[in-house]
Amino acid sequence: MAELFYDADADLSIIQGRKVAVIGYGSQGHAHALSLRDSGVDVRVGLHEGSKSKARAEEQGLRVVTPSEAAAEADVIMILVPDPIQAQVYEEHIAPNLNDGDALFFGHGFNIRFGFIKPPAGVDVCMVAPKGPGHLVRRQYEEGRGVPCIAAVEQDATGNAFALALSYARGIGGTRAGVIKTTFTEETETDLFGEQAVLCGGAAALVKAGFETLTEAGYQPEIAYFECLHELKLIVDLMYEGGLEKMRWSISETAEWGDYVTGPRIITDATKAEMKKVLAEIQDGSFARTWMDEYHGGLKKYNEYKQQDAEHLLETTGKELRKLMSWVNEEA
Ligand code: NDP
Ligand code: MG
Ligand code: MG
Repeated sequence: MAELFYDADADLSIIQGRKVAVIGYGSQGHAHALSLRDSGVDVRVGLHEGSKSKARAEEQGLRVVTPSEAAAEADVIMILVPDPIQAQVYEEHIAPNLNDGDALFFGHGFNIRFGFIKPPAGVDVCMVAPKGPGHLVRRQYEEGRGVPCIAAVEQDATGNAFALALSYARGIGGTRAGVIKTTFTEETETDLFGEQAVLCGGAAALVKAGFETLTEAGYQPEIAYFECLHELKLIVDLMYEGGLEKMRWSISETAEWGDYVTGPRIITDATKAEMKKVLAEIQDGSFARTWMDEYHGGLKKYNEYKQQDAEHLLETTGKELRKLMSWVNEEA
C-alpha cells in the first residue's frame, strides 16, 4: 500500500523559513506561487524576457524577476517551465546560482529521470506534483481543500529533503487531500506510459478506429461521432466516480454483456504485448531521446501528425456538431 501524508505530517514552518523561486507562471506555476504566498511563504516568480504571463503575475500581487535573479535570491527553486526547455533554463539561469544546501524542485520527473538535468551533489532534489491541472489546484486551495499530490526525493543532500517536500506540498494544499510518496523514476515512467498507452494515445486511437469502422461501413459521421467520441465522457465520468462497477451499474445489461465479451477482442494479448514494448522504450530512455530530438529539431513530424488529425472526418464532424450543444463549450 502507498504511504500517505496529511497536514499533521507536514511542518509548514519549514517552507515558511525558506525563500522560494517559482520559475514559470503557467498552469502549475501560478497555482504554486499564489498558494505558497497565501500560506505565508516568501515567493518570487522567475520569468523570461517577453513573458506573456508576467503582467498577470504582477496583477496578482507577486514580485516577478528574471529566472537568474529568482534563482540567486532563493534557496528553494521550483522549475515549472515546459519540460522540453527545462534543461536549457537550468543551465543558463539556475545552475550558476545554486549553492550547497539549496533545493531544486520539480513538478514532473522527466529531466532528472532521463539525465537532461544533473544537479550538483550538495543540493536537495525533490518533486511535488499535484494530480490535477493548475487551475484546479488553485481553486481547491482557495476553497480550503486540496488536490492530492505525489512527492519524491531524488537526492537528499541535507537529510531533510522529504520533510521540505511535504512542507511545500502543504503550502499548496496538497496535504489537505493527501500526499503519496513516490520516486522520480516511478512518477516519470508511469506518467509517460499512462498518457501514451491509455489516456491520450490509447483513447484517441480507440475513438478514431471506432469512428472509421462505422463511417467506412456507410453509417453517417454525425451518428458515429456521438457513439464513439461524445458519449465517452459519460462513461469516463462514471468510472471516475465509482470505477468499473459504477459504470456497469449505470449502463444497460446489453451494454454490460457487450463490454465483457467484446472488450477483450479489441484490447487483445497483442495489444498488451505492444504496451510492454512501449513501457520498455520509456524505461530505457529511447522515447525521451526521440522526443527531445523531435522538439529541438523543430517539431516537423509533430506538426504533421497534428495537421493530419485536424483534417480527419472525426474532427471536422465534431466541430460542426458541437455548435448544436451550447453547454459543451460553456463547460470548457
Ligand atoms: P505551462 O506551459 O502552462 O507554463 C509554462 C510557463 O513557463 C509559462 O509561464 C511560460 O511563460 C514560462 N516559460 C516559458 N519559457 C520560459 C523561460 N525560458 N524561462 C522562464 N519561464 C518560461 O507549463 P505547465 O504548468 O503545464 O508545466 C510545468 C511543469 O509542471 C512541467 O514540468 C509539467 O510536466 C508539470 N505538470 C503539469 C501539470 C499540468 O496540469 N499542466 C500537472 C502536473 C505537473 P509565458 O507563457 O509567459 O511566456
Ligand atoms: Mg505527462
Ligand atoms: Mg449507445
